[in-house]
Amino acid sequence: MSNKQNNIYSLFQVRFPKDTSAAFIETVDGAKYSYAYLEQETSRIAQFLTSLGIKKGDRVAVQVEKSPHVLFLYLACLRAGFVYLPLNTAYTKNELSYFLENAEPGLVVCKTETEALFFGFKNETLKHVLTLDLNEQGSLIEQSRSTAAEFETVACDTDDIAVILYTSGTTGRPKGAMITHGNLAANGLALQEAWGWQQSDVLLHALPIFHIHGLFVACHNVLLGGSKMLFLEKFDSKTVTQLLPKATVFMGVPTFYTRLLDEPSFDRTCNQNMRLFISGSAPLLEQTFEDFQQRSGHTILERYGMTETGMNTSNPLNGDRIAGTVGLPLPGVETRIVDENNQPVENNNVGVLQVKGENIFKGYWRMPEKTAEEFTEDHFFITGDMAQYNKQGYISIVGRNKDMVITGGYNVYPKEVELLLDETEGVKESAIIGLAHKDFGEAVTAVVVPNDINNPPNIDELKKLLKEQLASYKTPKKIIFIEQLPRNTMGKVQKNILRETYNTLYK
Ligand code: AMP
Repeated sequence: MSNKQNNIYSLFQVRFPKDTSAAFIETVDGAKYSYAYLEQETSRIAQFLTSLGIKKGDRVAVQVEKSPHVLFLYLACLRAGFVYLPLNTAYTKNELSYFLENAEPGLVVCKTETEALFFGFKNETLKHVLTLDLNEQGSLIEQSRSTAAEFETVACDTDDIAVILYTSGTTGRPKGAMITHGNLAANGLALQEAWGWQQSDVLLHALPIFHIHGLFVACHNVLLGGSKMLFLEKFDSKTVTQLLPKATVFMGVPTFYTRLLDEPSFDRTCNQNMRLFISGSAPLLEQTFEDFQQRSGHTILERYGMTETGMNTSNPLNGDRIAGTVGLPLPGVETRIVDENNQPVENNNVGVLQVKGENIFKGYWRMPEKTAEEFTEDHFFITGDMAQYNKQGYISIVGRNKDMVITGGYNVYPKEVELLLDETEGVKESAIIGLAHKDFGEAVTAVVVPNDINNPPNIDELKKLLKEQLASYKTPKKIIFIEQLPRNTMGKVQKNILRETYNTLYK
């Protein structure tokens, strides 16, 4: 039903602290933004954009650097029922042209530097281009300043789209995942419960905010808890170490944790007030989990989710957090792991993970066929992640379905080989990929980052070691050493880039 309460902003609002002079955001340079300011600024922006003719359901595309005002713009869009469309700052002209053509926004908010580029995209639908720069500069702020801060939050259905997020799209064109007000509410509340969020929590926020991790998981928990965040423009291990004593919760991608471990000043004294370190968006190595435990005295809580679903599983707040697993289903989320005939697999067997719940997105924007392909008849979403349950019901993700290597008709799950390689002396980390091979179809290939690139482990010895522990078809045909694995901004290894780089290795 369409009413104000179904707008996710209203859910945030009823949970704001009673004293709205309490801080919502504090920045590194000491600037403070209270909940009262949030209310005012989001009213002003929502009112201003409405006066430009932007209507409920219109898309607002945003490609800017992270700053508190980006969040106020986001919340203003929610209040007004606009569809917020955040774009990674790394996207280039070609990619942007696709997104704009596909999403047809009525307004783009960008940096002054890229204003001319976006002006070039103006058309019948895209009538407005505004700028938003760091330090509260740009035409959005200038032009909205004289608008009265009065705005009535717009009534919504739980099914109305709040945000469109384009998936990373390692194959084919990126797809716009339509995420509704109801999806955001369900997932936000499940995480509040699972992680025991309190108003006294202080989140140290160092993630980008064009992705679900930094925008929904991080900010929504703060908003639903009526708590505060320390807001960094970007991750930097020294600054994070300096600010940790003021925080109680930290969220990061695995690379944040490896970088903290590389930071000499990071030790237990930074963590007196911390209650929770959370990791997600990419697999956390067991070694990192253990090293972090030793060094900080804290056990990282790993969780799992994706753009289309929000968060699905989490290791427990109270109870065993098991390295190499992403924990148990969150409240309100059903999970199952199935074989190619859609039949549940036994514990410890690998299959495709499917999920169901109020958190699951509405579908891909203007792609009904693609949407239908990703759901089963009984409405489970097919994540495309290969996974297994252990006997306590904890889930481990063993890789993306499309990253699975099929060699001579046998399936090889990269994670199994990567785990063995990563444990080997002299190996820092590794990625297993399948490359075209005329006999095997695909050949298992290891791309390995050694501890010392000038003194890598002996290839024959490595192969021998693997052969002792793995079926021979799983043993890499070739091992390549490189200095660093290519990763995207969320810390995910870009296996597509590795496959492209080495695609002629067996030809
Ligand atoms: P994205 O839609 O960009 O958030 O990417 C979602 C994908 O990231 C999932 O389908 C998984 O393949 C991967 N992912 C997210 N969290 C984890 C995790 N904790 N462990 C392993 N893979 C993860």
